[in-house]
Amino acid sequence: MDRLAVDGGEPVRRGALTPRQPFPPDAVRLATEAIQSGSLFGVGGPLTRRFESEFAAYYGARHAVTVSSGTAAIHTALAAANPEPGAEVITAPITDAGSVLPILYQGCVPVFADVADHLGMAVEAVEACVTPRTAAIIAVHPFGGATDVRALRDLADRHGITLIEDCSQAHGTRFHGEFLGRYGHIGVYSLQQSKHMTAGEGGVCVTDDDELAARMRLFSDKGWDRLLDVAVDKAPGVTRWQPLTGCDASYWCYPFFVPGDVTRWADALAAEGVPTTPGYIGKPIYECMAALADAYPPGLCPRATDALTRLMIFWLHENLTEDEIADVGAAIIKVANALVD
Ligand SMILES: *Cc1c(COP(=O)(O)O)cnc(C)c1O
Repeated sequence: MDRLAVDGGEPVRRGALTPRQPFPPDAVRLATEAIQSGSLFGVGGPLTRRFESEFAAYYGARHAVTVSSGTAAIHTALAAANPEPGAEVITAPITDAGSVLPILYQGCVPVFADVADHLGMAVEAVEACVTPRTAAIIAVHPFGGATDVRALRDLADRHGITLIEDCSQAHGTRFHGEFLGRYGHIGVYSLQQSKHMTAGEGGVCVTDDDELAARMRLFSDKGWDRLLDVAVDKAPGVTRWQPLTGCDASYWCYPFFVPGDVTRWADALAAEGVPTTPGYIGKPIYECMAALADAYPPGLCPRATDALTRLMIFWLHENLTEDEIADVGAAIIKVANALVD
C-alpha cells in the first residue's frame, strides 16, 4: 500500500491546483466602464439596470431586482412575501446562514425540515412542518443540484404560502427543463465571490409577479419609489421640474430642464431611442396663437419664456415598463455626459 503523504510518503502531486480566475477581461472592461461612468450607484448608473434586464432575460423572468448580497436577496424576497411577525418560515438544515438570518430579520421563526438523500429538503418533511402559522418556504438548492421545487410549489399553492427558491449555489441549473428559480414565486441568487458568477458581493431576485417585484424594489431601496428623478439627479446640468411644495403630483408627463439647445437634446435622445418634446409649446401661449401674437408685447412673461427654452417633456404612461423607464433614465444620463461640459 502506498504510504500516505501525511505520514511522510510521496504526495500525489506537488504545487497548488490552478486558482479560480473569477474576473475575465470582459468583467474588468465592464467594471472600468462602470467606474468611468462616474456612478457606482445602482439606481442611477446604467450598468446595474442593464445587468438586471440581461439576467431576467436569461431566466425568462419578467423582473430581476439586484441587491447587495444573496442574504439581502432572501431578505428582500421574504419581506415582499410580507409575513406577519412571529410567522413560521420553513427552510433547510444544510445551507448558508444567509438562508436563515433573513427569517430572524423579519421577526419570523425558522423551522427546519430535514433533508432527503440529495441533501435538499424532503418534501414530506416540509409538509410535516406546515402549520397555520407558516408564511413561506425557503427551498435551498444544494451544491448546484435541485430540491424538488415542483412538488414544493404544489404544496405551497395548496397551503397558500410563498415559495422562495434559494439558488445561491445553483445558477443556471435546470430541473425538468426549467431553470431553478422559476418554480417559486421568487428565485434568489447570490453573487458572492465563491458563487458561479460574482460581483464580489451582490444578489438578485427574479419573479414574474409585478406586485412582488414592486415590493422588492421598494424594500431594497429604503422605500424610495423613484426612477427618473434619480437619473435626472445623476445627469450633469439636468434639473428636475419641482411640483409646488405640498403637492403629491400625479405626473401627466415627465418634465425636466436641460442646459443649451433643447432641439439638440431632443435629437440626441431620439437617437438613443427616447422620444421627447423639446420646449413643450416652445413659447408662451399668446405668442403661439396667430390671433393673439400681435396683441401682447414680447417679454411680457420672461420667466415663462426662459423656462420654455430649457424645458423637455417625456411622455409618461402606465404601460411603460420599469426597464423602459430605466432606459429613459440611462439615455438622459448618457446624453448629458456628452452634451454638457
Ligand atoms: C452563499 C449563500 C447564501 C448567502 O449569499 P451571500 O451573497 O453570501 O449573502 C445564501 N444561501 C446559500 C444556499 C448560499 O450558498
